[in-house]
Amino acid sequence: LVRIEDVRKSFGHLQVLRGVWLNVMRGEVVCLIGPSGSGKTTLVRCINHLETIDSGRIYVDDVLVGYRERKGGLHPVRDAVVAAQRRNIGMVFQRFNLFPHLTAVQNVSIGPVRVLGRSKHEVHAEAVGLLSRVGLADKIDSYPSQLSGGQQQRVAIARALAMHPAVMLFDEPTSALDPETVGDVLGVMRDLAAGGMTMIVVTHEMAFAREVADRVIMMDQGAIVEAGSAEQIFARPDQERTKAFLRAIL
Ligand code: ATP
Repeated sequence: LVRIEDVRKSFGHLQVLRGVWLNVMRGEVVCLIGPSGSGKTTLVRCINHLETIDSGRIYVDDVLVGYRERKGGLHPVRDAVVAAQRRNIGMVFQRFNLFPHLTAVQNVSIGPVRVLGRSKHEVHAEAVGLLSRVGLADKIDSYPSQLSGGQQQRVAIARALAMHPAVMLFDEPTSALDPETVGDVLGVMRDLAAGGMTMIVVTHEMAFAREVADRVIMMDQGAIVEAGSAEQIFARPDQERTKAFLRAIL
């Protein structure tokens, strides 16, 4: 479903992605782990074209994201085309970025109504259903400021799901949360994974990765160092760098 082919990306002189190849199958849950600065965040941001890439190709659902091929080279597509492509790609960030002046249910509904042009009535019912699914049935009329970080993050997940994306990208979704609210967010992600959602998750939550990931990808210095099942990576890592990383954090 997601094909990343030889993607390279630099910020000035700093090479952040040095030729990354990754295929994610429909329904697969892939967790990206690795030290700070290894390029995990940049890689997921490239998938929905929040970052441009210097070379390589990224396809989501067989659509080349952000570019079109011309004369063997990549040419950027118009913003409106990128916006259309992004509808298929849900993204949940470290910070939730909810609209502060809208209630939970309005935050979840606004995308389908404004962007997809669906009827308010129909979308409202669906948004209520999504908020129930993330455990917030009693908070639909609350404003973000009235919700805990973990509750806001669950609203953000419901908001992304409301667009019916083919894949969900998560960039350290629990790292800005109070410890007591982390579990609820991870629980929602666990349910999503069990429901067959295709997910790419940057995470420092190794217990979560171990339990939920179909595949764990270890990144270091802009490259994939090692990839395998959670069982293999955590119990029997091959690469020295993976072993050192896991020793340092576990
Ligand atoms: P972390 O776990 O700390 O989030 P990461 O593996 O996600 O780390 P990235 O956030 O992708 O790593 O960053 C990779 C490198 O690129 C870092 O050295 C970072 O400082 C640099 N970087 C990221 N974004 C930019 C930017 N917009 N401009 C310049 N440098 C950047």
